Amino acid sequence: MTIDRTVPRELLKPGADGRFGEFGGRFVPETLVPACEELEKAFDLAWNDSLFRTELSDLLREYAGRPSILTECHNLGRQLGIRLILKREDLNHTGSHKINSVLGQGLLAKKMGKKRIIAETGAGQHGVAAATAAALLGLECKVYMGAVDVERQSLNVFRMKLLGAEVEAVNSGSRTLKDAVNEAMRDWVASVESSYYAIGSVMGPHPYPFMVRQFQSVIGQEARQQFRAICDGKDPDLVVACVGGGSNAMGIFSGFIDADTRLIGVEPAGGAAVGRGVPGVVHGMKSYLMQDEHGQVQEAHSISAGLDYPGVGPEHSYLASVGRAEYPSVNDDEVIAGFALLARSEGIIPALECAHAVAWITKEAPKIQGQTVLMNLSGRGDKDVAQMMTILGESLGK
Ligand SMILES: *Cc1c(COP(=O)(O)O)cnc(C)c1O
Repeated sequence: MTIDRTVPRELLKPGADGRFGEFGGRFVPETLVPACEELEKAFDLAWNDSLFRTELSDLLREYAGRPSILTECHNLGRQLGIRLILKREDLNHTGSHKINSVLGQGLLAKKMGKKRIIAETGAGQHGVAAATAAALLGLECKVYMGAVDVERQSLNVFRMKLLGAEVEAVNSGSRTLKDAVNEAMRDWVASVESSYYAIGSVMGPHPYPFMVRQFQSVIGQEARQQFRAICDGKDPDLVVACVGGGSNAMGIFSGFIDADTRLIGVEPAGGAAVGRGVPGVVHGMKSYLMQDEHGQVQEAHSISAGLDYPGVGPEHSYLASVGRAEYPSVNDDEVIAGFALLARSEGIIPALECAHAVAWITKEAPKIQGQTVLMNLSGRGDKDVAQMMTILGESLGK
């Protein structure tokens, strides 16, 4: 694929059909069309309402701890022969970028008069964030989680309960994230009058991919200004982020779409929706999707549960198709090495998700000598320490 960094130079606002190019749209049962339309209108009003925007930015500042800082990695940068700067989303309340979206969606739910939030979760990070926002804003919260994930992530299940949420284990299908999404959508169909469905990434039927990108765009807006302030008014040569559904990546990409900056979304080799997928329809949207030869959705496999998703947000499919962003992948061994490398060299333990970005940068370093790289550190690694202990434990020595 040839990379033409000159198109597009602006962010797309999807049209009434909710498309980014051919991707996106609204592939939902008849009963959900009015709910999507109601949400689209409510978001449009809120996003253009200075009162709502002030309320949201106050919450982001006083509750989530924004703006998040930039940290230059002097040690690792020197080792790799590049200038490496991190956007520290790991320092937000609850430890990742997910709080940006759930505070926005929670406030919107209240504005719409909803009393209850529904959420799906894989590893539990979005479930914890949704439960947090619900507790803060006085909303009921129900989280759907695959039974396999409930077992694997018992600590996050307890966190959600501690925050007052109800967690329902989903026993259909492969009993993981994509089944939890199906179940959450079923609940939404049945309870749409009273309930708001908070999707965890830039995915699902229109307006979700657009709305969640707008809520996450605070990352890119801050980062552009902050980067220019420390780099003589220049923009970075590369912006790098990991891609599961793609919300942290879209958040930071959105600030640099019109810059002369390469945008890199790093996928896990076992869930490379853009890299290895073909266009298909899942969870209300058309996007690149990992499918088998019969068109069945394939299971994704990644060391990091947060990237275990066979699809990707439609805006990424669009950016890939027009050559504005690149989507390489890294394997689990490279991710483990990246995880340990950032910890050792900078004293920062990354989430396994963003260790994918570290891994790609490390691998690519010989080809980008002397360049400036801004990496989105989407979350902290505390949640992954137990898992890494079983993998790395012995090798670390005494
Ligand atoms: C959930 C999560 C991701 C993956 O979601 P995106 O929508 O692709 O950003 C990445 N990093 C962290 C820390 C997460 O919790």
